[in-house]
Amino acid sequence: MYPDFQSRSADLFARAQDFLPGGNTRHTVHFEPYPVYAARGRGAWVTDVDGNDYLDYVNNYSSLIHGHSHPKVVGALVQQASELVAVGLPTASEIALAELLVERLPAVEQIRFANSGTEAVMFAIRAARAYTGRPKIAKVEGAYHGAYDAAEASMDPTPANWGDATRPQSVGHARATPAGLLDDVVVIPFNNVEATRRLLDAHADELAGVLFDALVSRMGFLQATPEYLQLLRQWTHEHGALLIQDEVFSFRLGYHGAQGHYGLDPDLTALGKIIGGGLPIGAVGGKREFMQVFDHRSGHAAVPHGGTFNANPLAMVAGRVTMELMTHAAYAHINALGDRLRDGLNRLFAAHGWAASARGVGSMVGVMLGGETLGNYRDYRGFLPAVAQSVPRMLPLHRALLARGVMFIPYGGLITSTAMTEADIDLTLAKFDDAFKAIPMNAERFATA
Ligand code: PMP
Repeated sequence: MYPDFQSRSADLFARAQDFLPGGNTRHTVHFEPYPVYAARGRGAWVTDVDGNDYLDYVNNYSSLIHGHSHPKVVGALVQQASELVAVGLPTASEIALAELLVERLPAVEQIRFANSGTEAVMFAIRAARAYTGRPKIAKVEGAYHGAYDAAEASMDPTPANWGDATRPQSVGHARATPAGLLDDVVVIPFNNVEATRRLLDAHADELAGVLFDALVSRMGFLQATPEYLQLLRQWTHEHGALLIQDEVFSFRLGYHGAQGHYGLDPDLTALGKIIGGGLPIGAVGGKREFMQVFDHRSGHAAVPHGGTFNANPLAMVAGRVTMELMTHAAYAHINALGDRLRDGLNRLFAAHGWAASARGVGSMVGVMLGGETLGNYRDYRGFLPAVAQSVPRMLPLHRALLARGVMFIPYGGLITSTAMTEADIDLTLAKFDDAFKAIPMNAERFATA
């Protein structure tokens, strides 16, 4: 039972610390006192190196929409690997996946593939700059868009550096991020229409684009209001800046993505995660007119875009098979499971007297401990993983569920997959019920912490 300092996982973590700073190469998979090391996965379940099984609500941070090792995806991968793993030539597989995505995403006419969501956002930003000839990007305070400098500005500012709520400072995520890079980011407060309009107006001539996510994963999958989305679309349209929607996470919301769900018409869309069928992938797509910045045939593309592993056939075929399996019925299934989980958790929070809630939309469930007036990053920051206070709050719950065979994203995210059933959700709720009994935390502690 986790934690067990005699376990193979604990042993591996001790070994890892000699060779990997902090014991890993991915901060988001670490938790204290040591992370569980995975051995294999099947469907909705993961087995660790000690033989413990976990119902997996991390789903590799949402990228595994069918859970682990879907036979059709594995079959396509084995077939592809036996024919061609990688090659310095284009293959038909990239056209096939691009066609499928263009057919599904209303605002996407053309696509370029990359290898991560970080790259997708980075190339979308470069495309907006190249198209407009302007340097600045606006992005929402506290929103996560990957690790490109401009995209990660003000991802986790603190009261010591975040400035006025209606005019947030642009704060570097990594220490000593050059001020020159931060100066080119206009940080806007989520869902504050008036303050955002003022900030955009103040930089109107210099803004290449506005980067946004219709639902912000690290704020409990908080959704943008229709008024906010309308402002961003209208303002960019009127001022010749490009609207960039980050669908790296939110594409799993429905058959036509978050843009279909909310009726949005962005100029550029960043994609990743599920479209690679579990393999590393990223993509930037958009209207033909804007995507022309990647066309190199006149000699030098406005945005040069190479990459040894771009459109590698393994990710292309895994993505294609995965997305073909995502029928309307498959989306309805994972979304209904998300609703069942959300409703059940909220009933349990009430029954146990926890000042907490399960939020989010569709297959994305965000557990928030404490606080009722959660409208933007500054309300949420106490619950974010990058902020120290969140750890003592979420950690006991995360640990108690691990010990009971359920794993979720340590900041409180639970992501459903097509491999799950209603019985799995009910089992999960029983485990949460049991965990709540084992770690009684009074409402007052969360409300005032
Ligand atoms: N944007 C969003 C909204 C994301 O959730 C993520 C990853 N969690 C990224 C971008 C970056 O994607 P990647 O980890 O593949 O670089």
